[in-house]
Amino acid sequence: MPNSILSKRWPWLTAAALVVLAAMSTLITIRWGDPRPVGSAEDIAELATRSDLNVLFILIDTLRSDRLGSYGYERDTSPTLDRLASRGVRFARQLSQSSWTKASMASLWTALYPNRTGVTRFNDVLADEGVESPAEILRDAGFRTAGIYRNGWVAPYFGFKQGFEVYDRPSRQRAAPAVIKKNPTVSKGGTDEDIVDSAVEFLRVHGRERWFLYLHLMDLHEYTYDEQSALFGSAYSDIYDNSIRWVDGTLDILLGHLADQGYLENTLIVIASDHGEAFGERGLEGHARFLYRETTEVPLIFVFPFKLEPGVVVNARTRNVDIWPTILDLLKLPAIPEADGRSRVAEILAAARGEPMPDDGEPGFAHLDRHWGQREKDPMPTVAVTEGPYRYLRIPVQDEPAREELFDAGEDPAELDNLIDTRPEVAARLRSQIDRYLENTQPPGETTPAPLEIDEMQLNQLRALGYRVP
Ligand SMILES: [Zn+2]
Repeated sequence: MPNSILSKRWPWLTAAALVVLAAMSTLITIRWGDPRPVGSAEDIAELATRSDLNVLFILIDTLRSDRLGSYGYERDTSPTLDRLASRGVRFARQLSQSSWTKASMASLWTALYPNRTGVTRFNDVLADEGVESPAEILRDAGFRTAGIYRNGWVAPYFGFKQGFEVYDRPSRQRAAPAVIKKNPTVSKGGTDEDIVDSAVEFLRVHGRERWFLYLHLMDLHEYTYDEQSALFGSAYSDIYDNSIRWVDGTLDILLGHLADQGYLENTLIVIASDHGEAFGERGLEGHARFLYRETTEVPLIFVFPFKLEPGVVVNARTRNVDIWPTILDLLKLPAIPEADGRSRVAEILAAARGEPMPDDGEPGFAHLDRHWGQREKDPMPTVAVTEGPYRYLRIPVQDEPAREELFDAGEDPAELDNLIDTRPEVAARLRSQIDRYLENTQPPGETTPAPLEIDEMQLNQLRALGYRVP
């Protein structure tokens, strides 16, 4: 080990980066110049030849794509993300593999669909044997690896620490007065400012080594915002937009630090989300209950150590199980074995070269066990499949035949008109896709770990996120 600091306490998690904190409470403005050189498709293809490249993976919990300016939203919720997207790669049709954090993140990290990760219930644990996680692959390639999270569903006891030298919650600072004013309960759980503080401290200690840093932001899940970001009103849905603006400002702070320290020129930044959020589109609010577009269409943005002018858009259907196969392919590192997802480097290069996009018509699946939080009940998987403009959902109903819904986003972008009776051939084709999906339960390893004996303290942490668990 070149540095023993990680094996003892992690001073960068406990030290307060007061300078950063002070900067947080000022106005939200773009505060970083973009020092990156202009790059090309060839630079993307040659990323793997760079021995100085770091990886920053930012997960913004609960972010639906259609609330971002770069994804067509009319409100100015996301100037920082839009700026990154406009000089990077934006995946326009990105599907998360569940609408519930744990199942979704298990698929994102393993590139396996939920039926094969075995992580579909509140007490399921991500397998270690037989699964090579991206953090393990990067660690073995010589990267320092650290994960900082504030969502209990990705806690180490659920198996999410694999490959991370350090994997922990950030220490909590006192939130800025402008935040506390809008979110009186925020002081208990901290904010994403704490994550940025820890990231800055990590970079101070390890930034000149080669690193992989995973930041799992949680303020949007909790609808945290401050006075300056309270631009869009006070209804439930408006506060969500305020919170996006707040999180965007937090990213702006982080990007400012990266720019100041010279990391923008040697870091691949990937920004993703685990699921979206519903706002009464069909009488439902929140997430982790259904798999309609509002809770499974998420953003994905790749930011290279150079800027693309203009930025490029991948319009093909892509999925969160594709994220790590793509990153590992860009870096020419070993692929995740037996993955359901696949590299999208071909799509990125085609978009960057202005060539026609290869479209393999591969389906995308999302999966949510309706009984994920109920210990005594049998599994009851809701599955959605997308193909071209179509989304088909099979929703099991207790003691009745499953409910089926079919939408055509080409004619009906909000996906509210159920076409199940008027498009029987499409329905039959997608029905058989879901049958095949459900038959494939083969995990890559020999065994699936036993469910966790989850204790009362752990349950309370999850309940504090607003989930109903036993
Ligand atoms: Zn989540």
